[in-house]
Amino acid sequence: MPDHPVKIWYVAGQRLCNLKCPYCVSTGDWAKSNRYDWKSPIDRDTFATVVDWIASRPRPVEVRLGSLGEPFASTFFLEKAAWLTQQSGVRYVELLSNGSLIRQRLPKLEPLANLGKLSLWLTWHEGQLPLEKFLEAAVFAQEEYGCFVVVNTLLFDSHDTSGIQRVRDAARAAGLRFNVDLGYDPAAPSDSFDHAGNPSRTVPAMRDADVVAAVNACGGDTALTQAALAGLSSPLGRPCRAGHDYLFIDIHGQVYRCSRYAALDRAPLGSVLDPGFELPLRPEPWAPCEAASGCCNKEDFLNLQLAAPLRTRDVPSLGWTNA
Ligand code: SF4
Ligand code: SF4
Repeated sequence: MPDHPVKIWYVAGQRLCNLKCPYCVSTGDWAKSNRYDWKSPIDRDTFATVVDWIASRPRPVEVRLGSLGEPFASTFFLEKAAWLTQQSGVRYVELLSNGSLIRQRLPKLEPLANLGKLSLWLTWHEGQLPLEKFLEAAVFAQEEYGCFVVVNTLLFDSHDTSGIQRVRDAARAAGLRFNVDLGYDPAAPSDSFDHAGNPSRTVPAMRDADVVAAVNACGGDTALTQAALAGLSSPLGRPCRAGHDYLFIDIHGQVYRCSRYAALDRAPLGSVLDPGFELPLRPEPWAPCEAASGCCNKEDFLNLQLAAPLRTRDVPSLGWTNA
């Protein structure tokens, strides 16, 4: 059996969030909630089972543990994530957070976790909390606890990048990694991702603007944005590693080659909840993508062969590209 690590992106059904971002993509039946953490106890049990399964893999794993809400708002989620960092086969656990609760909750995790294996992808949500407080939390996690921290921003409007530039300058001055990702319109239906679909329905920053130039102006990476646009509009037939050393697990414990295959319910690899489940990873590194379009999540499209030069170093994040 090969012993190279497997990257896993798991999105759990944890939903509680303390913010109310107007562009939140956690909508519909599985929307984030300002009141409830789990829709039902079954979802919480599924989460626990999936995390146990991840920890029991015979090969090393690198995990982005996602949710529909804010992980630092959920004691159950956090404690399970902390436990995962303690498992020997787990190289790192990456959480996606809004950063608002880190100062209070991270110290409480210390006795339960190996915080040196905790990676934090902190997205700045303008208008939801003061930038100074957000960056202070990022510096706290990086310097006091040795977490791998990325400050992330979302570009929605290519004609107004001043807010993102402010975050970039402050993050760099504070010695923090900085990233720009494309923001998505939560109202864009995923069925707009077809051959005739117009990607600017999904990416507001593409509307009447040169989005690559706008990302550049914000301090983002041109090649990364080009890879994002290729995944969004034309992944079909392109060689991709997903399914070889990367996989996606959905809210229900179903495993797919990637999240786009999950959205299309294409070629499921099985369910973690099935007691006899054997993970059928593909031995060959590359296989052509069979999705016509809509590979819009970074965890996914970074597996495209064309994106390989973006991740030349081994970094503890499914989203950081050395850019
Ligand atoms: S912090 Fe994230 S989950 Fe919470 S409302 Fe904002 S975008 Fe949604
Ligand atoms: S290109 Fe995207 S949609 Fe296609 S297989 Fe790779 S990760 Fe999945």
